[in-house]
Amino acid sequence: VTVTEMDDTKPKEAANTTTTTTADKEDPFSKEYDNCIVGAGLSGSVIAENYATKLGQTSLIIEKRNHIGGNCYDYTDTETGIRVSLFGAHLFHTRHERVWEYVQRFSEWVPYEHQVLGIVNGKHVPIPVTIDTVNTLFDEKIASTEEMDEWLKKEQVTFYDEDGEEREAENSEEVALMRVGQRLYDLMFKPYTFKQWAKYPAELGPEVLSRIPVRNNHDGRYFSDPHQALPKDGYTAIFDKMLSSPKITVVTNTDYFEVRDKLKCKRLYYTGPVDSYFADLGWAKLEYRSLSFERVVKDNTPGYFQQASVVNHPQATDVDGKEVDFTRIVEYKHLLNQTSDKTIYFIERSKDGGEPYYPVPNDENKNLYKRYQEMAEKEEGVTFVGRLANYKYFNMDDAILNALELFDKDTKDIKTATG
Ligand code: UDP
Repeated sequence: VTVTEMDDTKPKEAANTTTTTTADKEDPFSKEYDNCIVGAGLSGSVIAENYATKLGQTSLIIEKRNHIGGNCYDYTDTETGIRVSLFGAHLFHTRHERVWEYVQRFSEWVPYEHQVLGIVNGKHVPIPVTIDTVNTLFDEKIASTEEMDEWLKKEQVTFYDEDGEEREAENSEEVALMRVGQRLYDLMFKPYTFKQWAKYPAELGPEVLSRIPVRNNHDGRYFSDPHQALPKDGYTAIFDKMLSSPKITVVTNTDYFEVRDKLKCKRLYYTGPVDSYFADLGWAKLEYRSLSFERVVKDNTPGYFQQASVVNHPQATDVDGKEVDFTRIVEYKHLLNQTSDKTIYFIERSKDGGEPYYPVPNDENKNLYKRYQEMAEKEEGVTFVGRLANYKYFNMDDAILNALELFDKDTKDIKTATG
């Protein structure tokens, strides 16, 4: 990748990116491009890659951070030699054949089925809820799927509409109560969700807790998709490859809003927060939840710090009554069986402000987003793509699919014209 850094102050974390940096002295803004793309994350990179390889079109990617890859960015930690992610664990899973086929082009993928443990009442249990979760937490001896179904049926809550008909869940609390009942909800979902969102599940749309499956067997895998894997050389290497075409120019450390007047592009792809794009309207801002990561290195640890790559701490206090203000701990050494005589882990906390990570799905934000969306649809020559621009919590595969489909849509006529 030819990355022009507009500023050579690089934080330590990004220093060992695999990106090759060429000090391209030519002003990247003096040229004309077919496309300008704001953001070098998944959405922007997929769009640029497609324009380059399918149509031979040029793209200028403008990235605010000092690295490509967006929140997928990973790097080898120099102190431990362990590859870690700067913005939290990224586990790839998809049921979209098109996406699975597409990502094969940029990496060798190692099959990996993610498993999460939670520490609840001082015990390690599988998350999502399985037979083993219930047996451990409630001293049950459930031995079959039928018995688990029966147990769940006794716990599950049903909701009715005014006509006495069973209705669907209207918020995330109802999702959890319908699926696992009050007791597991109180232990595993209510306090975690509050730590993660600073809102109770009843205040959030059903899509938040719908993400987590419930199993009537011993299958402790976090995801159910047919394709689950990790890129052999990490995610940053994928972006390096995606952006390697000479048709693609990347400038980092550059805020789009500070250079937008100089840009000469036929079309714009914007992957940043939609409300920032329309800041001049003076409307209320959309709400985003952010994360912070506390890095801990342990010397003399040829083994592991914890039993799994991700251990959740759903409760607000531990067995000794001490406050647990974090949601989960990620130990990257587990991923792809990395070896080191040290280990490194990241304690994850959620916060307001800072880098926007998660759109907050409640009615107020959804309605506000609809107003921004109407403006976005009217914006000539601009496509809003990705999690922040669509205010929608895309998984990695959703982001890729969405970008591929938008590329198809925007280039339909070009393709017809060239046959
Ligand atoms: N969640 C929970 N307890 C858990 C794990 C997840 O209550 O142990 C809830 C929480 O509200 C979280 C949501 O389920 O935001 C989705 O979890 P997921 O692991 O998919 O979140 P992500 O990894 O995307 O942050």
